[in-house]
Amino acid sequence: MSDVSLADINEAGKRVISEIHDIQLYIDGSFVDAESKEQFENVNPFTNEKINQVASGDRADIEKAVKAARKAFKGEWGNLPLKERLSYIYKIADLIDEHIEEIAPLESFDTGLPVSQTKKMVARAAQNFRFYAEMVSSRLVGDAYQVDDQFLNYTIHKPVGIAGLITPWNAPFMLETWKIAPALATGNTVVLKPAEWSPLTANRLAEIIDKAGLPDGVFNVVHGYGEKAGASLVAHEDVELISFTGETTTGSEIMKNGADSLKQFSMELGGKSPIIVFEDADMERALDACTWGIFSFNGERCTANSRLYIHEDVAEDFILKLKDRVQNIVVGDPMKEDTQVGPLIHTDHYENVKNYLDIAEQEGCQVISGTVPDEFSRGNFIAPTLLLNATNSMQVIQEEIFGPVIAVMTFKDEEEVIEKANDVRYGLAGYVWTKDLQRGHRVAQAVDSGMLWINSQNVRDLRTPFGGSKHSGIGREGGHYAFEFYTEVQIIHVALGDHRIPQFGK
Ligand code: NAD
Repeated sequence: MSDVSLADINEAGKRVISEIHDIQLYIDGSFVDAESKEQFENVNPFTNEKINQVASGDRADIEKAVKAARKAFKGEWGNLPLKERLSYIYKIADLIDEHIEEIAPLESFDTGLPVSQTKKMVARAAQNFRFYAEMVSSRLVGDAYQVDDQFLNYTIHKPVGIAGLITPWNAPFMLETWKIAPALATGNTVVLKPAEWSPLTANRLAEIIDKAGLPDGVFNVVHGYGEKAGASLVAHEDVELISFTGETTTGSEIMKNGADSLKQFSMELGGKSPIIVFEDADMERALDACTWGIFSFNGERCTANSRLYIHEDVAEDFILKLKDRVQNIVVGDPMKEDTQVGPLIHTDHYENVKNYLDIAEQEGCQVISGTVPDEFSRGNFIAPTLLLNATNSMQVIQEEIFGPVIAVMTFKDEEEVIEKANDVRYGLAGYVWTKDLQRGHRVAQAVDSGMLWINSQNVRDLRTPFGGSKHSGIGREGGHYAFEFYTEVQIIHVALGDHRIPQFGK
């Protein structure tokens, strides 16, 4: 067990952390070792000490999980009356709510995300299940078209079959439930391949779903490496759809690998989102949004505003204030309530981000960082950092860094900033700050991004879709978009009268 301070953590959190054990796969209603008996090590990002061992699944385990999922889909789960199916979904939501006090600390312990932030994400996970249970109750029958008095056409939404869900390590619990909730509520069965760097809460979720008593095989978790477990899930002939969240290059690899079996894909990929602050913006609010948007979740957020475009008339003052904020961010132990930035998930990712800071210097940026107290030298800490004197052509502007690092650039007018905002391959999110609402809408619509917030930061209702354009994604998750992705539309044509089809032959 890692030697970390659990001072601020509640009793439930302390207990669940003290009870951490080696993790197995969850297949066909049982916790089992990988067929190969192989395991990988899970490490605490604050101390870089081992937490536990995790079963490392591969093709053989995916085969078992898909077989179990298929049996459940064709059998008990597929034949369950809707009301009973949804009662399981509500039960999962209730159990998550009952265990929030444990799940949030567990997530922070595994990922380094500050516990004050993981608490909010976990609460949202339970809401995902309730939201989709309610949606399914009201949407199973789609459209109806009365062609004339002789014919009626109508559509129904049926489950697709086996959903393969592949998830990343940033906010893992929330992102997993975001896919699992609509997939199960619409009647599919699931094989989840969670990220290898954050297995603890995925395992807790398997325990919760097991406790909810779902029929065996409806929900399966195969931990393991992307190239083995993930790739086998993608290539499997019987898996009808893949919902993936992760890096753009992985998404592209997955689409190639799944092409032979003609799968449906939902892709939530990387981002390099701009925040545009005009000279008339409410500067204090814009400053709050700008700092929260890049430094919360340790900067490991797909929608992080990693590029700041500040109008040249107000740049000097805004940058001064931003520097001041950066120096005062509380960097430290993710298990403490007042921590704002914790350690990055893994040493490999830490090295990546550090490398980008070296590249920024080589490219001519002035790199200004806050401080990490010496006592935290064992963890994967990168201090909150500003990159000044950045320009759009730099590698650090064109590529996703995925850490607490924001590049700062100035602009003269609307036309220039739209061009700069759109001059990257990503198009996930964007943020515009101005009191001129006409300009706000105009710029919002001109920015190539799946989502854009005007005078706000990332506030999102569960009904609202989520997703990116360009290399940031394909399709939308959330709201009725996820409902549609996880269902197959069937069109039923019915004759109401005695219509005769034109006779062929005698
Ligand atoms: P990643 O692509 O490295 O891994 C994501 C998942 O894919 C993991 O479970 C991994 O094991 C698996 N995987 C890796 N290679 C695979 C392969 N060949 N076949 C099948 N599965 C494979 O991403 P990450 O580092 O875990 O997550 C960070 C990335 O996720 C960032 O780019 C971030 O922007 C993105 N992200 C996007 C959103 C969004 O909604 N758009 C949300 C969160 C994170």
